[in-house]
Amino acid sequence: MSGYHPLISPDKRTVFLDLDETLIHSKADPPPQKFDFVGAKYEVVVFTAGLKEYASLVLDRIDTKGLISHRLYRDSCKEIDGKYVKDLSEMGRDLGRVVIVDDNPNSYNYQPKNAIPVKPFIDDLGDSELEKLVAFFERCDCFEDMRDAVKEYFGSEGDLEVQEEV
Ligand SMILES: [Mg+2]
Repeated sequence: MSGYHPLISPDKRTVFLDLDETLIHSKADPPPQKFDFVGAKYEVVVFTAGLKEYASLVLDRIDTKGLISHRLYRDSCKEIDGKYVKDLSEMGRDLGRVVIVDDNPNSYNYQPKNAIPVKPFIDDLGDSELEKLVAFFERCDCFEDMRDAVKEYFGSEGDLEVQEEV
């Protein structure tokens, strides 16, 4: 895999964040107001199916505080039947210590138990998805395995959201 060099596994747990329609709506967006909260507690890796040529420019703009530890682009995805899958098993991280936040269910086809589904970030006014994430990250510490926390907080809701997008 090119573009990603797993470092020593961090003390922090890791959040793989999608970019388009999850972290931002368009390249004109300002940095998300509530983004900082994640960076203090978690290793933040932005993992996008977008091309590096585009996405790296966007990330330069929004990551003014250097909260993003790693950037992964389309060349780190697996292309399966024309869809881009983000395989978390190849990231040098314990799968019990990672989650992926993504609006596209195809992205987490390989590790659905690690996935926090979010609705596409269309309108930042009134968007409740970040609130949902804040609540999750504030409460998931008591779970040894992040997959148990995901199941607890997003189990049934997550299933419904995935079905809606099919
Ligand atoms: Mg997306």
